[in-house]
Amino acid sequence: MAEPAKVEVKPEVKAPNVPHLIVNRAEVVLEGCSACGNGFAANPQGERALTAVVGDNNAYMFCAHCGDAIMGHVQSDSVRQRYAWDWVVPLKGAPMLNGKK
Ligand SMILES: [Zn+2]
Repeated sequence: MAEPAKVEVKPEVKAPNVPHLIVNRAEVVLEGCSACGNGFAANPQGERALTAVVGDNNAYMFCAHCGDAIMGHVQSDSVRQRYAWDWVVPLKGAPMLNGKK
């Protein structure tokens, strides 16, 4: 009784989408890297991340790996100003102003 080989569906190795605080922009990102989709660091120390400001107020976040690749291709200083290295830390708690439970 030869059963067809079972294809093992592995869950994507992805950090759970915990919110992260973009330290210097003081904003919260809910998703991972805008390029590779990987979640940002889950350890409290956080990690380096690149923010790209596109248009008036759209910021994209990239992990350090993708950010390095992006910055390696930016050719003009006027464009480079739209990118800034920042730091992201995972947020474990809820905002303190959200009421008490
Ligand atoms: Zn990435």
